[in-house]
Amino acid sequence: MLFNFQLSTPKEGLVDITAEVTEAIAESGVNGGICIVSCPHTTAAITINENADPDVKTDFISGLDKSFPDLSSFRHVEGNSDAHLKSSAVGASETIIVTAGKPLLGTWQGVYFCEFDGPRNRKFYVKVMGG
Ligand code: ZN
Repeated sequence: MLFNFQLSTPKEGLVDITAEVTEAIAESGVNGGICIVSCPHTTAAITINENADPDVKTDFISGLDKSFPDLSSFRHVEGNSDAHLKSSAVGASETIIVTAGKPLLGTWQGVYFCEFDGPRNRKFYVKVMGG
Protein backbone atom coordinates (compact mmCIF):
# COMPACT_ATOMS: atom_id res chain seq x y z
CA MET A 1 0.00 0.00 0.00
CA LEU A 2 1.33 3.44 -0.98
CA PHE A 3 0.79 6.59 1.08
CA ASN A 4 1.50 10.19 -0.01
CA PHE A 5 2.36 12.95 2.42
CA GLN A 6 2.95 16.67 1.96
CA LEU A 7 4.87 19.07 4.17
CA SER A 8 6.09 22.66 4.26
CA THR A 9 9.79 22.82 5.00
CA PRO A 10 12.15 25.38 6.56
CA LYS A 11 15.06 26.93 4.60
CA GLU A 12 17.27 24.06 5.71
CA GLY A 13 16.71 21.43 8.37
CA LEU A 14 15.35 18.09 9.50
CA VAL A 15 11.59 17.55 9.87
CA ASP A 16 10.54 14.60 12.05
CA ILE A 17 8.19 12.37 10.02
CA THR A 18 8.22 9.35 12.36
CA ALA A 19 4.55 9.87 13.28
CA GLU A 20 3.48 9.89 9.61
CA VAL A 21 5.47 6.71 8.91
CA THR A 22 3.97 4.99 11.97
CA GLU A 23 0.49 6.13 10.95
CA ALA A 24 0.91 4.77 7.39
CA ILE A 25 2.02 1.38 8.70
CA ALA A 26 -0.97 1.23 11.07
CA GLU A 27 -3.37 2.22 8.30
CA SER A 28 -1.92 -0.39 5.92
CA GLY A 29 -2.84 -3.19 8.30
CA VAL A 30 0.56 -4.81 7.67
CA ASN A 31 1.78 -6.54 10.82
CA GLY A 32 5.16 -7.73 9.57
CA GLY A 33 7.13 -6.70 6.49
CA ILE A 34 9.06 -3.70 5.25
CA CYS A 35 8.36 -0.06 4.71
CA ILE A 36 10.15 2.24 2.28
CA VAL A 37 10.15 5.99 2.90
CA SER A 38 11.09 7.89 -0.23
CA CYS A 39 11.31 11.51 -1.31
CA PRO A 40 11.01 12.52 -5.00
CA HIS A 41 13.20 15.65 -4.74
CA THR A 42 16.80 16.30 -5.81
CA THR A 43 17.61 18.80 -3.05
CA ALA A 44 16.04 16.91 -0.13
CA ALA A 45 16.58 13.50 1.47
CA ILE A 46 15.31 10.95 3.98
CA THR A 47 17.36 9.79 6.95
CA ILE A 48 17.09 8.00 10.29
CA ASN A 49 18.87 9.64 13.19
CA GLU A 50 18.67 10.65 16.86
CA ASN A 51 15.34 11.93 18.14
CA ALA A 52 16.38 12.85 21.68
CA ASP A 53 18.70 15.87 21.61
CA PRO A 54 17.41 18.54 19.17
CA ASP A 55 20.98 19.83 18.79
CA VAL A 56 21.74 16.73 16.69
CA LYS A 57 19.46 18.09 13.94
CA THR A 58 21.29 21.43 14.01
CA ASP A 59 24.71 19.76 14.01
CA PHE A 60 23.63 17.44 11.17
CA ILE A 61 22.95 20.46 8.92
CA SER A 62 26.01 22.34 10.17
CA GLY A 63 28.27 19.35 9.44
CA LEU A 64 26.82 18.91 5.95
CA ASP A 65 27.31 22.65 5.27
CA LYS A 66 31.01 22.25 6.12
CA SER A 67 31.34 19.02 4.11
CA PHE A 68 29.49 20.40 1.09
CA PRO A 69 30.11 24.17 0.94
CA ASP A 70 28.41 26.37 -1.67
CA LEU A 71 31.42 26.84 -3.95
CA SER A 72 31.63 29.71 -6.41
CA SER A 73 33.19 27.29 -8.92
CA PHE A 74 29.94 25.30 -9.29
CA ARG A 75 28.47 25.64 -12.79
CA HIS A 76 24.80 24.68 -12.18
CA VAL A 77 22.80 27.84 -13.05
CA GLU A 78 20.18 27.28 -10.34
CA GLY A 79 22.94 27.95 -7.78
CA ASN A 80 22.04 25.10 -5.45
CA SER A 81 24.66 22.46 -6.25
CA ASP A 82 25.54 22.13 -2.56
CA ALA A 83 21.93 21.04 -1.91
CA HIS A 84 22.12 18.48 -4.75
CA LEU A 85 25.32 17.04 -3.25
CA LYS A 86 23.78 16.80 0.22
CA SER A 87 20.69 15.09 -1.22
CA SER A 88 22.73 12.34 -2.86
CA ALA A 89 25.08 11.94 0.11
CA VAL A 90 22.21 11.43 2.58
CA GLY A 91 20.00 9.51 0.14
CA ALA A 92 16.47 9.74 -1.22
CA SER A 93 15.01 6.83 0.77
CA GLU A 94 15.21 4.60 3.83
CA THR A 95 14.00 1.02 4.28
CA ILE A 96 12.55 0.16 7.68
CA ILE A 97 11.56 -3.25 9.08
CA VAL A 98 7.93 -3.49 10.16
CA THR A 99 7.11 -5.73 13.11
CA ALA A 100 4.03 -5.90 15.34
CA GLY A 101 2.45 -3.28 13.07
CA LYS A 102 5.11 -0.69 13.86
CA PRO A 103 8.43 0.56 12.44
CA LEU A 104 11.34 -1.29 14.04
CA LEU A 105 13.45 1.67 15.19
CA GLY A 106 15.91 2.04 18.03
CA THR A 107 14.91 3.90 21.17
CA TRP A 108 16.74 7.03 20.05
CA GLN A 109 15.91 6.83 16.34
CA GLY A 110 13.48 8.97 14.39
CA VAL A 111 12.74 9.25 10.66
CA TYR A 112 13.50 12.63 9.14
CA PHE A 113 12.75 14.53 5.96
CA CYS A 114 15.88 16.58 5.25
CA GLU A 115 15.46 19.93 3.52
CA PHE A 116 18.56 21.42 1.88
CA ASP A 117 17.01 24.11 -0.36
CA GLY A 118 13.81 25.41 1.18
CA PRO A 119 11.48 26.69 2.23
CA ARG A 120 9.27 24.68 -0.13
CA ASN A 121 6.16 22.56 -0.29
CA ARG A 122 7.49 19.02 -0.46
CA LYS A 123 6.18 15.48 -0.51
CA PHE A 124 7.30 12.02 0.48
CA TYR A 125 5.97 8.51 -0.01
CA VAL A 126 5.62 5.59 2.35
CA LYS A 127 5.26 2.15 0.75
CA VAL A 128 4.31 -0.65 3.16
CA MET A 129 4.61 -4.30 2.13
CA GLY A 130 3.83 -7.40 4.14
CA GLY A 131 5.88 -10.56 4.14
ZN1 ZN B 1 19.41 22.71 -8.88
